[in-house]
Amino acid sequence: MSDKTILIVEDEPAIADSIAFALGKEGFIPHHVMLGEQALAAARDLAPALVILDVGLPDISGLDVCRRLRQFTEVPVIFLTARSDEIDRIVGLEIGADDYVTKPFSPRELVARVRVILRRAGNGAAPAAPAVPHAAPAAARTPAFELRAAEARILFAGQPLDLTRYEYLLLKTLVEHPGHVLSRAQLMDRVWCDAPETLDRTVDAHVKSLRAKLRAIDDNADPIQTHRGMGYSLQPGA
Ligand code: CA
Repeated sequence: MSDKTILIVEDEPAIADSIAFALGKEGFIPHHVMLGEQALAAARDLAPALVILDVGLPDISGLDVCRRLRQFTEVPVIFLTARSDEIDRIVGLEIGADDYVTKPFSPRELVARVRVILRRAGNGAAPAAPAVPHAAPAAARTPAFELRAAEARILFAGQPLDLTRYEYLLLKTLVEHPGHVLSRAQLMDRVWCDAPETLDRTVDAHVKSLRAKLRAIDDNADPIQTHRGMGYSLQPGA
């Protein structure tokens, strides 16, 4: 795999050009295609270090492109999206996006994100479960949640949750400290300790997807409280 080749999948040439220019200036080798099918072929042929993938493509949706990419590669993907409802789908579908950028965006900021993700990826595949500092007991229980750390599993209302790694670690941290307000920085420290440049909105996005999974089990449940400007907590008694 080329550690410099970045695949840009974008059907609007002006946007693709601005990204390619910004990448080239930073020493990357941009490769641009306009269609999803071309993207899948290029991903196989070029083995790029990262894919910048527009969600709205003329032939197949970027979300489907990502799903098909995941059948043969773990290449990091940054989505480009013009619509906030697409963000919900990107986050909700768990199709393995590493980040997303909302149009209009600054190509320089996008390139900075590319660097962060590549640095993270270059630090070696993440261990299965990073040690959480200030480790709490291996099992914890609140009225609604049961944490089975040995199984890396959390039950909500008696039902096992199907969580991604970061969702699990995030919820685990909240369940271990019921009623405590944890700032985004604290959550990043504890949950994303192997990904030091996590953004506040990464935390927010994972809280959002967690809430959706909890609602899928209990429509009325909203045990994760938002404290504006402060952080999140598990509702006391939840
Ligand atoms: Ca488009």
